[in-house]
Amino acid sequence: MKPLGQITVICGSMFAGKSEELIRLVRRAMYARKKVQVFKHALDDRFERTAVATHNGVQLSAVPVRNTRELIAQIEPDTDVIAIEEAQFFDEALVPLCVELADLGKTVIVAGIDQDFRRQPFGIMPHLMAVADEVVKLRAICVVCGRPASHTQRLVDGRPASWDEPTILVGAEDHYEARCRNCHQVRKVPQAYRKRLLKRVRRAQQETPPYPEEQSA
Ligand SMILES: [Zn+2]
Repeated sequence: MKPLGQITVICGSMFAGKSEELIRLVRRAMYARKKVQVFKHALDDRFERTAVATHNGVQLSAVPVRNTRELIAQIEPDTDVIAIEEAQFFDEALVPLCVELADLGKTVIVAGIDQDFRRQPFGIMPHLMAVADEVVKLRAICVVCGRPASHTQRLVDGRPASWDEPTILVGAEDHYEARCRNCHQVRKVPQAYRKRLLKRVRRAQQETPPYPEEQSA
């Protein structure tokens, strides 16, 4: 019988334990003697280029690739499990590739940050989450107040980053921390963006019919 493939997406803010969860799933597959290949986006050169590094120092060897095409070229036909780190940096072609691999009976494990520092959906992550069979959304702990945190705070020279600062600034003096929605800050949010949002909220309030208990009251 053909194996049943699947796509698992592990997402969340930075410092939520995404890499640790990916490593746990990969290790489990290895114990079951599955053939595993681990890839990561080459942009992520935090530590060694051939390792999926986690913040607690646990490492797994991973192949750095610059795009989906490079990744496809490295997949061996008898691999059972394909794990991909830093998925938010990949191009759109990664989405249909994950679907294709799962259709072929492979287990696909994809980890990535789901929101950028502006709290906007990050790259292809929403699409990956939509086609996934399983989404594991992890939360970090807010460094300011200690409550659960879903957002990544970006600090440039110790100050909250501005809205218009590029999302990916390789080699810059950036600092990131996990924060909850109350403590998360972005400077210079465009007025147009705020106005558009407010308008949308108002329209939604007008269009939403009242709950039945409100009607009877
Ligand atoms: Zn907080």
